[in-house]
Amino acid sequence: MSAYLFPPAPVQAVAVQGETAAFPVNRIFCVGRNYAAHAAEMGVEVDREAPFYFTKSPHAVMASGGTLPYPPGTGNFHYEMELVVALGAPAFRVGADQAMTAVYAYGCGLDMTRRDLQLKAREKQRPWDLGKDVEGSAVLAPLKKAGAMAPLGPQRIWLSVNGDVKQDAHLSDLIHSVPEIIADLSTFYHLQPGDIIMTGTPAGVGPVGPGDVIEGGIDGLEPIALTIGAPE
Ligand code: MN
Repeated sequence: MSAYLFPPAPVQAVAVQGETAAFPVNRIFCVGRNYAAHAAEMGVEVDREAPFYFTKSPHAVMASGGTLPYPPGTGNFHYEMELVVALGAPAFRVGADQAMTAVYAYGCGLDMTRRDLQLKAREKQRPWDLGKDVEGSAVLAPLKKAGAMAPLGPQRIWLSVNGDVKQDAHLSDLIHSVPEIIADLSTFYHLQPGDIIMTGTPAGVGPVGPGDVIEGGIDGLEPIALTIGAPE
Protein backbone atom coordinates (compact mmCIF):
# COMPACT_ATOMS: atom_id res chain seq x y z
CA MET A 1 0.00 0.00 0.00
CA SER A 2 1.58 3.25 -1.07
CA ALA A 3 -0.53 5.74 0.81
CA TYR A 4 -2.96 6.07 3.71
CA LEU A 5 -6.27 7.92 3.65
CA PHE A 6 -5.22 9.82 6.76
CA PRO A 7 -2.07 9.79 8.89
CA PRO A 8 -1.77 6.56 10.93
CA ALA A 9 -1.69 6.91 14.70
CA PRO A 10 1.84 7.58 15.94
CA VAL A 11 3.86 4.77 17.50
CA GLN A 12 3.83 5.01 21.28
CA ALA A 13 7.24 4.60 22.89
CA VAL A 14 8.93 4.68 26.26
CA ALA A 15 12.44 5.90 27.14
CA VAL A 16 15.20 3.46 28.09
CA GLN A 17 17.88 4.48 30.58
CA GLY A 18 21.25 4.89 28.83
CA GLU A 19 19.76 4.75 25.31
CA THR A 20 19.02 7.61 22.96
CA ALA A 21 16.50 5.44 21.07
CA ALA A 22 13.11 4.75 22.65
CA PHE A 23 11.36 1.40 23.08
CA PRO A 24 8.36 1.27 20.69
CA VAL A 25 5.33 -0.30 22.34
CA ASN A 26 3.58 -3.01 20.32
CA ARG A 27 0.97 -4.67 22.56
CA ILE A 28 0.12 -4.26 26.24
CA PHE A 29 -0.77 -7.43 28.12
CA CYS A 30 -1.91 -7.09 31.72
CA VAL A 31 -2.10 -9.83 34.35
CA GLY A 32 -5.10 -9.88 36.69
CA ARG A 33 -4.98 -10.84 40.37
CA ASN A 34 -1.32 -11.67 40.67
CA TYR A 35 -0.91 -10.74 44.34
CA ALA A 36 -2.96 -12.74 46.85
CA ALA A 37 -3.70 -9.78 49.14
CA HIS A 38 -5.03 -7.74 46.19
CA ALA A 39 -7.28 -10.59 45.04
CA ALA A 40 -8.63 -10.78 48.59
CA GLU A 41 -9.37 -7.03 48.72
CA MET A 42 -11.22 -7.41 45.39
CA GLY A 43 -13.32 -10.20 46.93
CA VAL A 44 -12.13 -12.91 44.56
CA GLU A 45 -10.18 -16.14 44.72
CA VAL A 46 -6.68 -16.37 43.31
CA ASP A 47 -6.24 -18.86 40.49
CA ARG A 48 -2.84 -20.38 41.17
CA GLU A 49 -3.16 -22.75 38.21
CA ALA A 50 -2.68 -20.11 35.51
CA PRO A 51 -2.63 -16.35 35.12
CA PHE A 52 -5.42 -14.52 33.29
CA TYR A 53 -5.08 -11.47 31.11
CA PHE A 54 -6.67 -8.37 29.73
CA THR A 55 -5.15 -5.92 27.28
CA LYS A 56 -4.82 -2.21 26.79
CA SER A 57 -4.43 -0.48 23.45
CA PRO A 58 -0.85 0.76 22.92
CA HIS A 59 -2.45 4.17 22.43
CA ALA A 60 -3.15 4.13 26.18
CA VAL A 61 0.57 4.69 26.85
CA MET A 62 1.42 7.82 28.80
CA ALA A 63 4.86 8.90 30.00
CA SER A 64 5.59 9.18 33.71
CA GLY A 65 5.59 12.69 35.11
CA GLY A 66 2.57 14.03 33.26
CA THR A 67 -0.96 15.05 34.14
CA LEU A 68 -3.84 12.80 33.12
CA PRO A 69 -7.24 14.50 32.99
CA TYR A 70 -9.78 12.66 35.16
CA PRO A 71 -11.25 10.29 32.55
CA PRO A 72 -14.83 10.36 31.31
CA GLY A 73 -17.44 7.83 32.36
CA THR A 74 -16.22 7.06 35.86
CA GLY A 75 -16.71 8.14 39.45
CA ASN A 76 -14.13 5.74 40.88
CA PHE A 77 -10.77 6.04 39.13
CA HIS A 78 -8.14 3.81 40.75
CA TYR A 79 -4.34 3.52 40.71
CA GLU A 80 -2.56 0.16 40.39
CA MET A 81 1.23 0.10 40.79
CA GLU A 82 2.89 -2.63 38.70
CA LEU A 83 6.17 -4.11 37.50
CA VAL A 84 6.37 -3.76 33.72
CA VAL A 85 8.27 -6.31 31.62
CA ALA A 86 9.36 -5.17 28.15
CA LEU A 87 10.13 -7.83 25.55
CA GLY A 88 12.95 -7.45 23.05
CA ALA A 89 12.78 -10.78 21.24
CA PRO A 90 10.09 -13.07 19.86
CA ALA A 91 8.71 -15.85 22.06
CA PHE A 92 6.26 -18.55 21.08
CA ARG A 93 5.67 -21.71 23.11
CA VAL A 94 8.74 -21.07 25.24
CA GLY A 95 9.26 -22.80 28.55
CA ALA A 96 9.73 -20.79 31.73
CA ASP A 97 13.40 -21.81 31.65
CA GLN A 98 13.84 -20.06 28.27
CA ALA A 99 11.40 -17.18 28.77
CA MET A 100 13.78 -14.67 30.35
CA THR A 101 15.89 -14.50 27.20
CA ALA A 102 13.01 -12.53 25.63
CA VAL A 103 13.08 -9.84 28.34
CA TYR A 104 14.72 -6.60 27.23
CA ALA A 105 13.96 -4.33 30.18
CA TYR A 106 11.89 -3.66 33.28
CA GLY A 107 10.06 -0.59 34.43
CA CYS A 108 7.55 0.91 36.82
CA GLY A 109 4.01 1.18 35.48
CA LEU A 110 0.57 2.34 36.53
CA ASP A 111 -2.52 0.41 35.38
CA MET A 112 -5.07 3.20 35.87
CA THR A 113 -8.57 1.74 36.08
CA ARG A 114 -12.19 2.90 35.93
CA ARG A 115 -13.00 0.60 38.86
CA ASP A 116 -16.73 1.20 38.82
CA LEU A 117 -16.96 0.14 35.18
CA GLN A 118 -14.63 -2.82 35.68
CA LEU A 119 -16.71 -4.13 38.59
CA LYS A 120 -19.99 -3.56 36.77
CA ALA A 121 -18.61 -5.54 33.82
CA ARG A 122 -17.37 -8.29 36.13
CA GLU A 123 -20.81 -8.51 37.77
CA LYS A 124 -22.54 -8.81 34.39
CA GLN A 125 -19.88 -11.17 32.99
CA ARG A 126 -18.96 -8.66 30.32
CA PRO A 127 -15.48 -7.72 29.05
CA TRP A 128 -13.38 -5.30 31.10
CA ASP A 129 -12.42 -2.98 28.25
CA LEU A 130 -14.27 0.13 29.43
CA GLY A 131 -12.76 -0.30 32.89
CA LYS A 132 -9.22 -1.03 31.80
CA ASP A 133 -8.55 0.25 28.28
CA VAL A 134 -8.72 3.87 29.37
CA GLU A 135 -6.96 6.58 27.36
CA GLY A 136 -3.72 7.47 29.12
CA SER A 137 -4.09 4.60 31.58
CA ALA A 138 -0.84 2.75 30.82
CA VAL A 139 1.61 5.06 32.53
CA LEU A 140 5.22 4.03 31.99
CA ALA A 141 8.44 5.19 33.64
CA PRO A 142 11.74 4.96 31.73
CA LEU A 143 12.83 1.35 31.34
CA LYS A 144 15.96 -0.27 32.75
CA LYS A 145 17.70 -2.96 30.72
CA ALA A 146 17.28 -6.41 32.19
CA GLY A 147 21.03 -7.03 32.42
CA ALA A 148 21.36 -4.07 34.79
CA MET A 149 18.58 -5.29 37.12
CA ALA A 150 19.21 -7.58 40.09
CA PRO A 151 17.29 -10.91 40.07
CA LEU A 152 13.61 -10.24 40.74
CA GLY A 153 12.22 -11.06 44.17
CA PRO A 154 13.40 -9.00 47.14
CA GLN A 155 12.59 -5.61 45.58
CA ARG A 156 9.99 -3.47 47.34
CA ILE A 157 7.09 -2.22 45.21
CA TRP A 158 5.20 0.74 46.62
CA LEU A 159 2.87 3.59 45.73
CA SER A 160 1.85 6.77 47.50
CA VAL A 161 -0.90 9.32 46.95
CA ASN A 162 -0.05 12.87 48.09
CA GLY A 163 2.79 11.35 50.14
CA ASP A 164 0.69 8.72 51.95
CA VAL A 165 1.86 5.16 51.22
CA LYS A 166 -1.05 3.10 49.92
CA GLN A 167 0.60 0.04 48.35
CA ASP A 168 3.66 -1.66 49.85
CA ALA A 169 4.76 -5.18 48.92
CA HIS A 170 7.64 -7.10 47.37
CA LEU A 171 8.08 -8.63 43.94
CA SER A 172 8.47 -11.99 45.67
CA ASP A 173 4.73 -11.69 46.46
CA LEU A 174 3.89 -12.23 42.76
CA ILE A 175 1.81 -15.41 42.44
CA HIS A 176 2.81 -16.05 38.83
CA SER A 177 6.47 -15.14 38.26
CA VAL A 178 7.75 -13.24 35.23
CA PRO A 179 9.10 -16.36 33.44
CA GLU A 180 5.86 -18.24 34.19
CA ILE A 181 3.78 -15.38 32.74
CA ILE A 182 5.88 -15.16 29.57
CA ALA A 183 5.79 -18.93 29.10
CA ASP A 184 2.02 -19.01 29.57
CA LEU A 185 1.32 -15.98 27.32
CA SER A 186 3.53 -17.55 24.64
CA THR A 187 1.14 -20.50 24.42
CA PHE A 188 -1.53 -18.05 23.15
CA TYR A 189 0.45 -15.39 21.29
CA HIS A 190 3.49 -15.03 19.10
CA LEU A 191 5.10 -12.56 21.49
CA GLN A 192 7.09 -9.86 19.70
CA PRO A 193 9.71 -7.25 20.48
CA GLY A 194 7.81 -4.22 21.73
CA ASP A 195 5.21 -6.22 23.63
CA ILE A 196 4.98 -5.23 27.27
CA ILE A 197 3.45 -7.04 30.21
CA MET A 198 1.99 -5.30 33.25
CA THR A 199 2.36 -7.99 35.89
CA GLY A 200 -0.40 -7.13 38.35
CA THR A 201 -0.80 -4.92 41.39
CA PRO A 202 -0.35 -5.48 45.14
CA ALA A 203 -3.05 -4.79 47.72
CA GLY A 204 -4.02 -1.25 48.62
CA VAL A 205 -5.65 0.02 45.44
CA GLY A 206 -7.90 3.03 45.80
CA PRO A 207 -9.44 6.09 44.20
CA VAL A 208 -7.80 9.32 43.10
CA GLY A 209 -9.25 12.61 41.99
CA PRO A 210 -8.25 15.91 40.41
CA GLY A 211 -5.16 17.39 42.04
CA ASP A 212 -3.92 14.10 43.49
CA VAL A 213 -0.26 13.24 42.94
CA ILE A 214 0.64 9.56 42.59
CA GLU A 215 4.23 8.43 43.10
CA GLY A 216 5.51 4.88 42.98
CA GLY A 217 8.66 2.85 42.86
CA ILE A 218 10.31 -0.52 42.66
CA ASP A 219 13.79 -0.93 44.15
CA GLY A 220 16.39 -0.59 41.39
CA LEU A 221 14.06 1.02 38.84
CA GLU A 222 13.32 4.62 37.89
CA PRO A 223 10.32 5.81 39.97
CA ILE A 224 7.00 6.78 38.43
CA ALA A 225 4.72 9.78 38.96
CA LEU A 226 1.32 10.90 37.75
CA THR A 227 -0.86 13.89 38.54
CA ILE A 228 -4.61 13.67 38.06
CA GLY A 229 -6.05 16.70 36.32
CA ALA A 230 -9.51 18.20 36.07
CA PRO A 231 -12.05 16.33 33.95
CA GLU A 232 -12.19 17.45 30.34
MN1 MN B 1 -3.51 -4.18 37.04
